[in-house]
Amino acid sequence: MATDSLAAVDFGGYTLLENASLRARNTLRVDARAALLAEVRDIHALPALLDWPAIRNMPALALGEGSNVLFTGNFGGLIVTLKTRGIEIIGEDGRTARVRIAAGEHWNDVVRWSLAHNLCGLENLSLIPGTAGAAPVQNIGAYGVELEEFVHLVEAFDLRERRLETFSKNGCEFAYRDSRFKREPDRQLITALELNLPKSREPVIDYAGVREELATMKIEGKPTSPQIAEAVVRLRTRKLPDPALIPNAGSFFKNPILPIEFANELKREHPALPLWAMDQTHAKLSAAWLIEAAGFKGAREGDAGISERHALVLVNHGNATGAQLWALAQRVREGVREYFGVMLEPEPRVIGSA
Ligand SMILES: Cc1cc2nc3c(=O)[nH]c(=O)nc-3n(C[C@H](O)[C@H](O)[C@H](O)COP(=O)(O)OP(=O)(O)OC[C@H]3O[C@@H](n4cnc5c(N)ncnc54)[C@H](O)[C@@H]3O)c2cc1C
Repeated sequence: MATDSLAAVDFGGYTLLENASLRARNTLRVDARAALLAEVRDIHALPALLDWPAIRNMPALALGEGSNVLFTGNFGGLIVTLKTRGIEIIGEDGRTARVRIAAGEHWNDVVRWSLAHNLCGLENLSLIPGTAGAAPVQNIGAYGVELEEFVHLVEAFDLRERRLETFSKNGCEFAYRDSRFKREPDRQLITALELNLPKSREPVIDYAGVREELATMKIEGKPTSPQIAEAVVRLRTRKLPDPALIPNAGSFFKNPILPIEFANELKREHPALPLWAMDQTHAKLSAAWLIEAAGFKGAREGDAGISERHALVLVNHGNATGAQLWALAQRVREGVREYFGVMLEPEPRVIGSA
């Protein structure tokens, strides 16, 4: 069995691993390797790390918990993983608290911390895997809420200019599962976030079964944030395959956003197709419905598969390589395109080919 790395050397603010195994560092459990991997505990050590002659001209890639990546092969450069910790209130008034979060924090710990401090807003984002640092990259969202609503600023280390920068909420250019950090990957290493979290807020419960789950829990009247969090956890645990049991990267395809005329035409041909109007000109379709209707739910090619529980989820039944998983994803895309004329976009970052 492959070892985690050939050598791990501690340089104070960071540990450097050579020929590092990535298998335990991505939730699809793809057995890829990185030429070098740095676990950084102190962001002030970044300039010294990046100045090593052997590293200076290498491609660098940020990796959190690997829950939104697919490695289709080995990575010949430096992977940087932030192990920084810290969540603190840095200011507040009667209505809101400003919370600063180090990038290496586990996202769900941030959610639980906010609830323990009687702060609202993050409850719908419970149980999303990954780090706080990766959360702004695709503007994580679930059950009717997106991270951007709470972002005050994002702090990042510019890997090209070698300096810390801050981005206001507008400067992050957030969109559905998207941001400037996703569009220009490996330029900015996000080191911290500052969120404005309200002390009370109208609950968001009219989405994907939250209200019904609260009723099952016998919650009457206006639910509290912890109660909504519990409903979301119950829903997610029931509906999504657990990566610890069956390796996956969550939703592998984004819900496509299409011109409204085309979306309405598809709806006329397929009345059961779920469709949400975004504005006057565009509508979002359910990628899961399209994949299932094209016959791919539960599909399997060797150890690469599409989950039987959720058509959006690409799974590794054992020893699928990244290339095999990507090949199956491509076949799903092609099948949906042939069937419906809609090209699905992958949600995770595909590293190695695109
Ligand atoms: C079971 C499951 C359920 C999921 N459910 C949801 C969901 O409901 N909603 C949702 O939005 N997502 C969901 N995801 C996707 C994933 O959890 C999020 O995208 C998460 O934010 C990824 O965090 P990570 O630390 O694992 O990032 P990684 O997978 O390690 O990285 C993802 C991307 O972010 C970049 N990145 C990572 N850290 C940094 C950093 N510090 N600075 C700059 N770039 C960085 C990487 O280069 C890569 O491009 C789910 C995934 C799984 C496995």
